[in-house]
Amino acid sequence: MKHKDISKNSNIQLLPPELANQIAAGEVVERPSSVLKELIENSLDASASSINAIIEDGGQASIKVSDNGKGIPKEELALAVTRHATSKINNIRDLSTINSFGFRGEALPSIASVSRFRIASCWVDEPDKQAYALDVNFGEHKEIQPVALYKGTQVEVRDLFNNIPARLKFLKNPNTELKRAQEIFTRVGLIHTNVAFEFSAGTRKALTFLLEDSLFERLCKIWSPSITNDMLEVNNSIYDMNITGFISNPRSLYAKADKLLLYVNKRPVSDKLLIRAIRQAYKHSLTTKDYPQVIINININPEEVDVNVHPAKSEVRFRDEQSIFKALYVSLEKVLEKKLFLHQVNARENSQKNIESQNLLREPSSDFSTFSSTFSSYEEKNSYNKIENNFENTQNNMQPSGFWGYADTFSKGLDKQGMSMIKDKKVFEKNFEEVIYKPSLTQDNKVNQESIISEKKNTSHILPHFLCQIESSYLLFQQHNGTLFILDQHAVHERVLFDKLAKKEILANQKLLVPISISLHSSEYEAFLTVQQELKNTGFQCVYEENENFLECTEIPLEFNSATAEKFLQKVLKNSIVDIHSLFIDYACDKAIKANQNLTHAEAINLYQQWLLCEQPDFCPHGRPCYILIDKEYLDKLFKRT
Ligand code: ADP
Ligand code: MG
Repeated sequence: MKHKDISKNSNIQLLPPELANQIAAGEVVERPSSVLKELIENSLDASASSINAIIEDGGQASIKVSDNGKGIPKEELALAVTRHATSKINNIRDLSTINSFGFRGEALPSIASVSRFRIASCWVDEPDKQAYALDVNFGEHKEIQPVALYKGTQVEVRDLFNNIPARLKFLKNPNTELKRAQEIFTRVGLIHTNVAFEFSAGTRKALTFLLEDSLFERLCKIWSPSITNDMLEVNNSIYDMNITGFISNPRSLYAKADKLLLYVNKRPVSDKLLIRAIRQAYKHSLTTKDYPQVIINININPEEVDVNVHPAKSEVRFRDEQSIFKALYVSLEKVLEKKLFLHQVNARENSQKNIESQNLLREPSSDFSTFSSTFSSYEEKNSYNKIENNFENTQNNMQPSGFWGYADTFSKGLDKQGMSMIKDKKVFEKNFEEVIYKPSLTQDNKVNQESIISEKKNTSHILPHFLCQIESSYLLFQQHNGTLFILDQHAVHERVLFDKLAKKEILANQKLLVPISISLHSSEYEAFLTVQQELKNTGFQCVYEENENFLECTEIPLEFNSATAEKFLQKVLKNSIVDIHSLFIDYACDKAIKANQNLTHAEAINLYQQWLLCEQPDFCPHGRPCYILIDKEYLDKLFKRT
């Protein structure tokens, strides 16, 4: 191949317009789907209420978009296909308050430079309603001709990239290109609920959104009922923004990230900041493999967002990133919170404070239900006795009929076989020594913490019935309205332990008789500096002995002993970028009750109560669910009654 020798090239020349357009086309129109996006956005900017697209052969043979918008006057048709000609902005001020999708005046000339292009339009104010068409063949303008078109604009793009073989090579097979085109059409069509959309692949109608279809109805047309049945609506006004849309229930997340549809002022965007805010709102329910399904539009003053970042306009830049992050996070969290366990318990139990259930289980003693007791010495035994007494009361007051009665017999049966109950107090104490703590609160935190605890205590004063342990791994409870729920004992205990570590303010620490001393390499010293404060907040008192190059730890949280604390510190120091929370997760996982471990009734109830005090009881710190609810509706479904 012969290359141009640029070293001898000293004459600077203006590029011919066709070449400039073709170069611009490289950025604006990458493939058929991007052509389609530009055309439908033009139709939206022309106030169309109906947009129709037909794609042939994945868009390579033809892409045709028709609308019923305001059209283009005959004398402006040629301008519409001229570079940097636009009707959407006039001056630099307009650029900061853009309400339209287009503004760069680049799309049509770019597309027309790499295809056989035809635009036909009927200008809304044209007295005799005569429409005109302009053909442009790979950048070459033809004569404008009168054509028959009643209303709006029709653009047809044929033989895309036929004059640029290198571009053609990058296109995928027609089916893949068709899929991409349909995806972008759907993406735009979903959010513009004031516009009807129709998409056809050749003669096959692939998608129709009617004018009267709401956002949710449109969503139901493209996502399966297993997702849409359980979606939650978001509608929140915050910091001069309006955040609307639908998000999936945290209990039905999928392993694919293809359903995160984000819009800013109805413009589809892919933005890392927004995705981070969403993941943050779901943080308690996401494992690393889960993705929520989301369609969210952020309506914001155009001055607050710069859309002129990329020629394809799919990226935006926010003036105040922090506010956007917070606004989105808070709006989603508000909705998700309502789905959480405590909220449900509150709602159910408040509407169900009937006398029967009050009698069925006595309010647990305050020593037991607040967490101010330790199991050392007198208090320890006292609390334990109270649990047992409390439980005995429960047993005595139980009604011997129905499922409850059955479960009682069932668990006693297990007891006889020696499978379930561990009556040994030692085991009980050992299992739970980690989950009891002495609060050592600062004044502010104390007020806050007390109000949380008392609020949660209100919800826990009617305990559910503990029925039995299933396969030494799961705990079966029944609420007073009859609903069953199963706790995963490991996940629940993990959550309890994690919360205690993460809520630094309620950790108490212990002085070590023999300090832990760890010799530090210089890289580990760097790691220490980054986590020094965090460790201190968590209850580790560490001092670096500069001359000796070692770290001395004199105090550790109550939850640790000297050996586990040393292991923990070693791990922290080995990771130069430390996410202390992930280490807490490891720790909680390690220490939590495992599956296949028998629990007594009292232990099960104790665990339930501690769990109820957690801020996020729905999921373990890894994001796995802590419980499953089995209500009548669910059973009816299982038995195919509905
Ligand atoms: P931009 O959208 O950035 O202005 P385009 O190259 O996409 O640039 O379009 C150029 C101009 O052509 C637009 O500003 C608009 O005035 C006109 N135009 C394009 N498509 C349509 C349409 N479907 N209906 C009415 N006017 C249109
Ligand atoms: Mg445009």
